[in-house]
Amino acid sequence: MPKFIFVVGGVMSGVGKGAAVASIGCILQSYGYRVTAVKIDPYVNVDAGTMNPIEHGEVFVTDDGDETDQDIGNYERFLNENIYSVNYMTTGRVYQTVIERERNLEYGGRCVEVVPHVPEEVIRRIKEAQRQAKADFTIVEVGGTVGEYQNVLFLEAARMIHLESPKDVMFVLVSYLPIPKNTGEMKTKPTQYAVRTVNSAGIQPDFILARAECPLDGPRRRKLSVFCNVSEDNVISAPDVDSIYKVPIHFEDEGFGRKILKKFGMHPKRRNLANWRRFTESIDQSSKPVRIAMVGKYFATGEFTLSDSYLSVIEAIKHSAWAQGRKPVIEWLNAEEFETDPKYAQKLADYDGLIIPGGFGGRGIEGKMRAIRYVRENGIPYLGLCYGMQLATVEFARNVLGLKDANTEEVYKKSPHLIIHTMPEQERLIKEKRYGGSMRLGAYPCVLASGTKSRRAYGLAEISERHRHRYEFNNAYRQDLLKAGLVISGTSPDGRLVEIIEIKDHPFFVGTQFHPELKSRPLAPHPLFMAFIKAAVKVGSSRKNHHRSNKENRSTK
Ligand code: GLN
Repeated sequence: MPKFIFVVGGVMSGVGKGAAVASIGCILQSYGYRVTAVKIDPYVNVDAGTMNPIEHGEVFVTDDGDETDQDIGNYERFLNENIYSVNYMTTGRVYQTVIERERNLEYGGRCVEVVPHVPEEVIRRIKEAQRQAKADFTIVEVGGTVGEYQNVLFLEAARMIHLESPKDVMFVLVSYLPIPKNTGEMKTKPTQYAVRTVNSAGIQPDFILARAECPLDGPRRRKLSVFCNVSEDNVISAPDVDSIYKVPIHFEDEGFGRKILKKFGMHPKRRNLANWRRFTESIDQSSKPVRIAMVGKYFATGEFTLSDSYLSVIEAIKHSAWAQGRKPVIEWLNAEEFETDPKYAQKLADYDGLIIPGGFGGRGIEGKMRAIRYVRENGIPYLGLCYGMQLATVEFARNVLGLKDANTEEVYKKSPHLIIHTMPEQERLIKEKRYGGSMRLGAYPCVLASGTKSRRAYGLAEISERHRHRYEFNNAYRQDLLKAGLVISGTSPDGRLVEIIEIKDHPFFVGTQFHPELKSRPLAPHPLFMAFIKAAVKVGSSRKNHHRSNKENRSTK
């Protein structure tokens, strides 16, 4: 019988429910079981594609072209497996299906009600995800915090699955224990209330994951156990760690995975967390820095800079840096600063490489192109991801080909040189304002040209990568750009769509129309990021040697 583990959050959001789900999955998988994970987002949005990344974080695109939550990215990274659209649902998506079915008379004339029909659709989706993954364990993350109006129907679904088969369903409450400054004492009361709240939804947690700044002590463990009706053994201490990749190791040391199995009356088929352990050790062993600049615009919300908007890019940099024994130092440069101060680009000389990630709209693009020009002219490694590839092409057209007013149709339709233009199939969608879920989405094949950096990096002639865009390279300029020295190293198999561009005679200058970051995994870093970091390390150290020998020259004079 397949098992279902529901993970719900207490007290507040952002305490690491996603990391807990991914880490529990990682451990159960290491015991030899098949695991999948489902994310439930309480938003009415049908998918994450229509949400601003500053509000919701990165949009993670699956192989089958769904625009999902960044937690799906964590599941893929921790399980080292693809997760598909069926594993993601939102309130909007669930209601949409129920209403469609009602319109198709699929409820046979019955009165369609919020309860039970909405939770039933939630359950159908969870079971479908289990079935498609043939999972022994399906871990379900219920977004939001218990007590919120928004996720009541999802808790109802969890309760109903449990009622149907109590032996095969388990609940984990991820809660937060604050340590107020004035008392300096860890407080359990908010968690006690959170448990009462889930109790009122008919759910009793089997485990409490006690998230806090520091480990749980004996008295508090006992308190939680008594007041929350959970055995002491099943109160798991989960203090902050310096890397989320260490959470599975910590859980394993706490015996969390084995306790879960025991509750289900199961045993590990094998124990094999060795690869993961080795990977986490490489994090601590990487001490020499590699300094990467990222220029984007989804950082600023008041005082905060939200690196969540570019989560997969950051993780991809880390995977490749650690794999090469380097400590990733990633710094954010705001695109608009490059526009106000023309000298700002010189800051890039302090970095070993530059990444311009995906983006939309006109704000900051002139700044991004100033940054691209600087690294192109100064031999600093560059990796452009989607918008970063499109803008690198426009910059090349402007400053190498000499088409001064070259642009992308997304920003300035009236430009006489639309180097990046609307994909034909997108024209109608844009006119009809059909924006949701309508970009070129998901995995597409790409063939690589021999003798190029991309081909060398992948070591393959054909690859598959994930896309999310409306605009593309304009083939009317293909010949002129090639003549001026641009290299087209990857195209769709029919040769029509340009998927990767490069520049000759540069240590590393590569732009991809797709998002390679979405496929980078801790145990399988992405080949293009590997090649980029390798070039950054090389260029960085030769520059340092150069500085050093200059200094030595000066001191001997
Ligand atoms: N805005 C660009 C497009 O729609 C790039 C998208 C992206 O970077 N994901 O084509």
